[in-house]
Amino acid sequence: MSDEKTDAIVIRTVDFSETSSIVTFFTKDFGKISALAKGARRKKGPFESALDLLATCRIVFLHKTGDSLDLLTEAKLQHRLRASENGLSRLYSSYYMAELLRNFTDEMDPHPRLFDISLECLRDLENSDLEYEPTVLRYELSLLQEIGQAPSLRRCVACGRDVAALHRIAFGLLAGGVLCDGCRRGQRRIVSLRVEVIEILSEFGDPSSSNWRNNSSYKNHEKEIRPFVNNYFAELLGKRPRMFGYIPILGRS
Ligand SMILES: [Zn+2]
Repeated sequence: MSDEKTDAIVIRTVDFSETSSIVTFFTKDFGKISALAKGARRKKGPFESALDLLATCRIVFLHKTGDSLDLLTEAKLQHRLRASENGLSRLYSSYYMAELLRNFTDEMDPHPRLFDISLECLRDLENSDLEYEPTVLRYELSLLQEIGQAPSLRRCVACGRDVAALHRIAFGLLAGGVLCDGCRRGQRRIVSLRVEVIEILSEFGDPSSSNWRNNSSYKNHEKEIRPFVNNYFAELLGKRPRMFGYIPILGRS
């Protein structure tokens, strides 16, 4: 048993008893953790609003070995989600980020850069001067990059050769990347993507660069990008993410 401190984002809260909750956090130093928050459901509980969904907080928890739940001992609010003030699509996009973190990260498997990107995208969604659709794509692609599930966009996912940048390029949804002419035969679930779309996906998925913010061609290709990314995530997850039903641009597939 050890006492651990870290920054955290609340990605799920489930009632545990009349007074307690089990809270799942995505933390900077430990990745995903689930901890019992005793008294969290009391009106004047020890954690106040630090455990609201997608709140950012500084937490202290007791890490238990084996199957026992970690125990939350402190949670100090740093930032409360404000996306709801700027429209439901922004709020639901934030919930979608939480859904992706719950599904694609593992307990005690830290990804500090993904933590920073998560905070940055949550703040962007709160900012009504910025369009939310590019932020959603940025988040989806950099998350995949950080957890090692990014689609192969330059090299054929089957043979490793560079794929010629023709007008349209074959992408295997099951294979997880572009396919050269020789390898596409016999593959199932192939979509054909414009080379411009492949370039946009590469730029948005580069966690070390902020060039995506100045990308002016995203809007022109959104109609092709969204159904593709939606299908790709449904394929990776084995089902359509739940929040797809709530966000107009994610409803298309
Ligand atoms: Zn090939």
